[in-house]
Amino acid sequence: MNMKQISEHVFQCEFELDLSIRMPIHTWLIKDDEDVYIIDTGIEKFADDLIKAVLSIGTPKAILITHGHHDHIEGAAKLVEKFNIPIYAHQKELIYINGEAPYPKKDELENTGVAHIVQPLTEQTIAYLPIQYYLTSGHSPGHVVYHHEIDRVLLSGDLFITSQEDLYPPIRKFSVDMNENIDSGAIIDEIKPTLICSSHGQSLFYNDQLYKKYVWNYRD
Ligand SMILES: [Zn+2]
Repeated sequence: MNMKQISEHVFQCEFELDLSIRMPIHTWLIKDDEDVYIIDTGIEKFADDLIKAVLSIGTPKAILITHGHHDHIEGAAKLVEKFNIPIYAHQKELIYINGEAPYPKKDELENTGVAHIVQPLTEQTIAYLPIQYYLTSGHSPGHVVYHHEIDRVLLSGDLFITSQEDLYPPIRKFSVDMNENIDSGAIIDEIKPTLICSSHGQSLFYNDQLYKKYVWNYRD
């Protein structure tokens, strides 16, 4: 695991998954004075390293999940057990996280290890944090992105796969509705963050041509 500070309050933890292709998995730690908020938790075998990373920078307060796919939530059970902190995701994601319905286009129920303990995100949840969440449905029905409003860093989960220059769609096979996902990407032109950080790609600086080009290339 490799942790780097990407802005005054945001740290990115990078784990490598050894598949046929090398794929990074990112989780993020948001520091607010001594408090630490964990955005996504990676897979279970990374959880111990993530726990160490959290404790090295402050006191964990809550876990915020972008969506319920296993490479974002599987580590959560261990973190919840260790830290005894609340965990949140979008209301629309909860039936899948709870294993009450399979994700659309899938047959199997998810086994996230945190069924029925994830609470719905509300304005209240993050009222005292310099973070805002935005629903960006498409990759999954309740996918959200998190924006750190002081640092202007957008943690975009699986909304895009990113290189240092460009936006690409997430893996089609794992996405419920690709056109809806691409339309949800318009959020970057609304927020205009300084930096965009995705779960499985490199960080890139925002500019107002990025999304236009992406739509041109990938929208049906
Ligand atoms: Zn995903």
